[in-house]
Parts: sequence; structure tokens; C-alpha cells
Amino acid sequence: MTSHPEFSIIIPVYNEKDCLQEMYRRVSEVMSSTGKTWEMVIIDDGSRDGSTEQIRDLGKLDKRVKPVIFARNFGHQIAVTAGLDYSQGNAVVIIDADLQDPPEVILDLIARWREGYEVVYAIRAEREGESWFKTFTASFFYRLIQKITDVNIPLDTGDFRLMDRKVVNVLNSMHERHRFLRGMSAWVGFKSIGVKYKRAARFAGETKYPLKKMLLLALNAITGFSYFPLQLATYVGFTAAGISIIIIPIVIIMRIVGSQAFFGQASTLLAVLFLGGVQLICLGILGEYIGRIYDEVKGRPLYIVSEAPEKPSDQA
Ligand code: UDP
Ligand code: MG
Repeated sequence: MTSHPEFSIIIPVYNEKDCLQEMYRRVSEVMSSTGKTWEMVIIDDGSRDGSTEQIRDLGKLDKRVKPVIFARNFGHQIAVTAGLDYSQGNAVVIIDADLQDPPEVILDLIARWREGYEVVYAIRAEREGESWFKTFTASFFYRLIQKITDVNIPLDTGDFRLMDRKVVNVLNSMHERHRFLRGMSAWVGFKSIGVKYKRAARFAGETKYPLKKMLLLALNAITGFSYFPLQLATYVGFTAAGISIIIIPIVIIMRIVGSQAFFGQASTLLAVLFLGGVQLICLGILGEYIGRIYDEVKGRPLYIVSEAPEKPSDQA
């Protein structure tokens, strides 16, 4: 068995044909400047724009590049998971393919790792070239997660981070299906620190995270790390019961004294509609959790690869 490289760079790719060459050039330049051995695990998450062929070619050109080609699009978090499974480095860096996370920042992450930190996450101090809407929703999302989940997930951090082999091994042993890696990484603990950086604009192409995927990620983050939505039903139930206990005697007294305030169907209708709505929402929330339990119970593989190097865990 060949010896392990010092660093693994994990790059998930979904239709990034115009970024790949530049990304490879900049990452390899930065990594070579460390003077250590490294590998680049590029995961093709079911691209349909010719990225797949480019990734294959990079693999042929440079033996340090390890292409992992998915059978279809499984999503960014799963692609990164596969990267973690196939990586062998003593320190593993996750970075986007679109050069929004400048590869030069990797050197700062490595410097902190050398100081003894096991997770070094990159904090987006500034963002460039992203819409007002994206910045606002992202910022709202990070703060919401912080409020309602039990783990302390650092604000304004994405998946751009360095993790020690120890941390990666723990993450690889967590098989949950609906993954929110930054939450999982915070949950496992270890000595962590943040490094601030300026998130650049995309090198080419458009975001592969439309609103729908962002909402799904948010939902996975919330359901994966919090029971708050389930408890919401209890809170609303107690509040509604409390209000009715106060209102029932008031209405009875008003009727006795002859007030007309609660006559007619409107008030009945409003109460029924309101509670009916709340009950349906609660059922929907239950459904979200039950659907996730069902997915876990089926125990299907997290991803299917059509081409990949040998998995480190399969080696003797
Ligand atoms: N990505 C992926 N699978 C997907 C969507 C995105 O592998 O289904 C990759 C994408 O190629 C990029 C990274 O995940 O390398 C982050 O995506 P993107 O830059 O579109 O997200 P944003 O920076 O806009 O949040
Ligand atoms: Mg991006």
C-alpha cells in the first residue's frame, strides 16, 4: 500500500466545466507551495455539461487527482461525504469548485492545524458578487440554526474547512442520510478555530444552489439537530388551551348578561379554521421527521459511484 499523502483536498463538482481548469491550476499551485504530499479528490456529482470528461482527463494527467464519478446527482453534502470516504490525507480540506473559496486561504487553515487545532473552519467575513437575497437568507439561516439547535454551529461558515484525520474518521462513521456536515462537524467536537476570509465571486457559471436546494439544506439542518419543530406543537397546544380556559367563562358570562359579541358563525368558523391549520402544520412537521426515519430505516447506500479509485476502507 502506498503511503498516505499529508493533505487531501475535496472538491465537489456539479456542472462546473468552466471552473475546473482554473481550479486545478490554483489549488495545485497552492498545495505545491506547502512542500508536502497531497491528493485532490474530485467528486463529479452527476454533471451533464462535460465536467465529467474533464475530471477524468485531470486524473490521467496528474496521478494526485482522484476522480470519483457519481451515477447521478446526489447533492453537494453527499458529494463531500464521498470525498471524505475516499480521502487518505492526514488533514482534509473541503473546498468549492467555483473558486468562491480562494485556494490561497488553505495555507491559513494549514497554519492553524499545525498549531494543533483539529477543525479549522473558514468564516465568511465578506461576500462578493452574491445577490442581496442570497446574503440575507444565508445570514438569517445561520442565525436561526444557532437559536434552535442544540449544537453550537459557528455563524457564517460553510463547508470550506480543514479537518484532521481523527475528525474525518469519526464523520465517516456517521451514516445519517440527511446530512448537514458543518453541524455534524460541530457536533463531534474536537479543538476548533475559525479563520476569516473574503468569499469571492464565482469564477464562472451560476450557483448550483437554487432556493429549493437551500431550503432542503435548511430543513435537514433543523431536523437533524433539533426537536424544536416537534415541541412547537406542545407549545401551541398549551397556549391555545390556556386561551380557551380564559375565554370560555368570559363568553358564558357575556351571554348571561345579554351581550351579542359572540353570536353568529364567524367566530366559530375562525376558531375551527385556525386550529385546523395549526393541526395540519403539526402533522406536516411530524411527517418530515417520519419521512426521515423511513429513509434511515431503508438503509440504502448514501451514493452510487460509477467510477472511483479503491476506497481506503476497502484496502487491507
Ligand atoms: N455542488 C454539487 N452538487 C450539487 C450542487 C452543488 O456538488 O447538487 C457543488 C458545486 O459544484 C460547487 C459546490 O457544490 O463546487 C457549491 O455549490 P455552489 O457554488 O453552486 O453554491 P453557492 O456557493 O452558490 O452556495
Ligand atoms: Mg459557490
